[in-house]
Amino acid sequence: MSVSVTFLGGLGEIGRNCAAVEIDGKIALIDVGLMFPEEDMLGVDLVFPDWSWLVKRRGDVSMVVLTHGHEDHMGAVGYFLRDIGVPVYGTELTLELTRGRIEEIGVDSELLPIQQGKWISHGPFKFMLIRVSHSVPEASAVAFDTPEGVILHSGDFKLDPTPIDGRPTDLPAFAELGRKGVRLLLSDSTNAEREGFEPSESSVGQPIADVIRGAPGRVIAACFSSHVHRVQQIANAGIAAGRKVAFFGRSMHRYTSVATELGILDLPADSVIDIKDLGALPDDRQLLITTGSQGEPFAALSLMSQGRHKFVELDESDTVLISAKPIPGNETAVSKVISNLMRRGANVVHGRNSHVHVSGHAAREELLTFINLVRPRAFVPVHGEYRHLSAHADLARKMGVKQVDVLEDGDRVTVDGKRTYVERRAVPAGYVYLDGSSVGDVQNAVLRDRSHLADEGVVVVTVGIDHDTGEVIYGPDLDSHGVMDDPSAVLDKAADAVRSDIESHKSGRTDHAEMQKTIRQAAGKVIRAETARRPVIIPVIMEV
Ligand SMILES: [Zn+2]
Ligand SMILES: [Zn+2]
Repeated sequence: MSVSVTFLGGLGEIGRNCAAVEIDGKIALIDVGLMFPEEDMLGVDLVFPDWSWLVKRRGDVSMVVLTHGHEDHMGAVGYFLRDIGVPVYGTELTLELTRGRIEEIGVDSELLPIQQGKWISHGPFKFMLIRVSHSVPEASAVAFDTPEGVILHSGDFKLDPTPIDGRPTDLPAFAELGRKGVRLLLSDSTNAEREGFEPSESSVGQPIADVIRGAPGRVIAACFSSHVHRVQQIANAGIAAGRKVAFFGRSMHRYTSVATELGILDLPADSVIDIKDLGALPDDRQLLITTGSQGEPFAALSLMSQGRHKFVELDESDTVLISAKPIPGNETAVSKVISNLMRRGANVVHGRNSHVHVSGHAAREELLTFINLVRPRAFVPVHGEYRHLSAHADLARKMGVKQVDVLEDGDRVTVDGKRTYVERRAVPAGYVYLDGSSVGDVQNAVLRDRSHLADEGVVVVTVGIDHDTGEVIYGPDLDSHGVMDDPSAVLDKAADAVRSDIESHKSGRTDHAEMQKTIRQAAGKVIRAETARRPVIIPVIMEV
């Protein structure tokens, strides 16, 4: 009986990780992630794997297993479940992080928490999550015990010997699988070009503490909300320096409360206060931990950098700590935010000028160790751009792995007895785009392909609204891409129409869905009348 793995995403880009394991005509998915758009994909909010071929085989799809709670692994699960409703397995924290994303789009789901290190049976699948360290707690590799032998997917991992929770990558479990024989290994290639070992997560603790202790005024720290161990280290450093901690940002609140409930984040209750009360303390008693490390336009850090944040106006005595690295696609946005923060006089400490960030992905020596431990018969590098996959493949060959194939999205590898063979472009694997206006709104979710965007263009309408009064205090600012040669006259006219329609619909508090509709209709009408085009209109509403 042959067993195959088909790659829907993540091979050729960092993001939208998704692989389909097929045994006896039944399919299990490993991760259903999303990708953040590249900078040339203007007006696109999210990029998904193309699972259209699975929709056609809906009856054969039996489950999803998630390796960890990062968006590039679980961010598209809700949309997938809307098309194909199957149970989703993962660790408790992974599923709690995923639950939030699924609830946002209002889809029913069956989330089944499982423990690492225990074999689980589901239909023809027998699988096990294995503990690895990464930049989110409870990350896992996943092993499938198949009739053709063990297929092992590393997930995202590093071999951190001193992780914050004292629970390092489960090397004995991997060694055990290696002894029994791994038929096929799929492993994380993100840092395959980086020499040596990635430093331990605990190595940033002291530098972060030094920054916070030495700060003369307020400290505003930004990191990924899912990086609970980083949040813990930043908060610990603040508390040790006599500061109170406030969290800011929707995902920061959600993730820290989930992690506290599960006992993963541990902070003395009296040291965490509401951001509204933080301002009453002396400056050098304040630590704000916020989202926005990726330069996201609505996030706190970006608003602060533009002097538009409700609670925080930055000045020369403030220190901003960015304890994260921009993910691909966000570099320019992050760089702009850093420049603007500096322009306001803040002291900005980030991964490039200080050791306040380490990667969650294994570097070359760790990858070599891992391959050596697992000793697979066949190897396919995953999770990376082609250059990363290629570098990782070279490492595996150097380690003497007999069969090494660099595959790309849409390709399939099959193991069948002694044979391992590759089928190129076995399934469609193009980018599927989701425009931002429809996130959180199943009814209006509009999936569009690249050609549609190219034909009709995109208009982004940005408008800043006063949170309490619903009044327009910024914009509407219209930005077009691929719609017309000289857009300014048309866009000015459209902006006027949008402004007057918003003003006339205004009802005190802002109803986002309603306002998006108003913006789309008002701008669309003008642009259609003037240009006979029907661009995708993306309303961006900032509440200030
Ligand atoms: Zn990843
Ligand atoms: Zn990850």
